[in-house]
Amino acid sequence: MNFLSLIEAKRDGRELEAGQIKEIVADYAAGKIPDYQMAAWLMAVYFKGLTTPETSALTLAMRDSGDVLKFPKDARPLVDKHSTGGVGDKVSLPLAPLLACLGFRVPMISGRGLGITGGTLDKLESITGFKTALPLEKIVENVQQVGCVICGQTERMVPADRAMYALRDVTGTVPSIPLITASILSKKLAESLRALVLDVKFGAAAFMPTIEQANDLAEAMVALGNECGVNTRAVITSMDAPLGRAAGNWLEVKESVHCLDGLGPVDLQELVIDFAAHLLVQTDKALGMEDARKMANDCLESGQPRKKWDEMLAAQGADVAAFSKKLERDHTAPLVMEVTAPQDGFVQSCNARIVGEVVRDLGGGRLTKDTVIQPDVGVDMIAAAGEVASFGAVLCRVHATTKEQAEAAVKRLQEAFKISEFPPESAILVREVVQN
Ligand code: URA
Repeated sequence: MNFLSLIEAKRDGRELEAGQIKEIVADYAAGKIPDYQMAAWLMAVYFKGLTTPETSALTLAMRDSGDVLKFPKDARPLVDKHSTGGVGDKVSLPLAPLLACLGFRVPMISGRGLGITGGTLDKLESITGFKTALPLEKIVENVQQVGCVICGQTERMVPADRAMYALRDVTGTVPSIPLITASILSKKLAESLRALVLDVKFGAAAFMPTIEQANDLAEAMVALGNECGVNTRAVITSMDAPLGRAAGNWLEVKESVHCLDGLGPVDLQELVIDFAAHLLVQTDKALGMEDARKMANDCLESGQPRKKWDEMLAAQGADVAAFSKKLERDHTAPLVMEVTAPQDGFVQSCNARIVGEVVRDLGGGRLTKDTVIQPDVGVDMIAAAGEVASFGAVLCRVHATTKEQAEAAVKRLQEAFKISEFPPESAILVREVVQN
């Protein structure tokens, strides 16, 4: 294959054949295309886009770059949820054990942080001993026995996405509708799912800045998912403010456990319940969203998903006793510094993009492919819009490794909060549902 001519074709906006796309994916996954050329092709795709047949070919080629999960016959439907990425978006963590307790099997193949958005795998790796790299057989075994697993692609599963994802992360080629569609659906189609719900985010810290772009992405993914035989829905949610009160790998794990303990925060719990409810309806386990939300809520309140979480941790190698001890600590990063309100008033907004950049720059995310993640850094106690903020009240806390980093983060976070005289109108988190 003359890859240079395919880069030029895409650069000039020409459509590639399915066979050519298949070859690009196979050759890149096999290490036959150097990163610099693939980066150029991805940038050409970013600017020129892909047609629907090209996106479909890319998705299927990526799925077929490795093995597809095969499960024994079982009455429990195979389901999953995936987010396009946000700041503080830890929904997958409490959702997986909740779904397992609702009678689903959940083979949640997840990703790492991308750009300023956090990654489920990076979060879970802040738990001592927790293994995100599992062999195929172990993924199937855990799903059958525990009901849920959250892990990364194996060497044998969707290797093309793993390599392309890491390259996109550091080449500015993430926010592309066809590339996100192919990345997410290739992983999900390799899970042999019956139903999939997608969280498509828009706003300051999302890859899709506007609701219209989020809608286009949602429609592309819903159409392709359903075409491939997976009952697929997308929920469009706002990502202007961080989700929950914490952003940063370990801090988000901690908040997820709070959610499983029934302690909120409200916005996180709303999304967890909503996604579980959609999957209950999509698999005919509930007649409508109202019934489904009640089922999910009752299940969360039963405390079973919290126990299931520990079971999932143990099954993936974590030291649950050490984990419980770590949960009790107020902070695990060397330094904590507060950001305080400069005046009396109400929190009007908190800019999730600034929070995401701060977390990444503290070491919670990547600036290059080789960045080593600092699991314990981040921001917590983030004041939500509408909260009263009297002069000197804590707007959030920075967890950092060094004093210089902490001071720089505090300075930037002061810009993230807008304080005003009057409370803001309440923000709506879930905006639309896209389904076939
Ligand atoms: N999540 C993914 O898995 N891939 C993307 O490209 C974006 C978000």
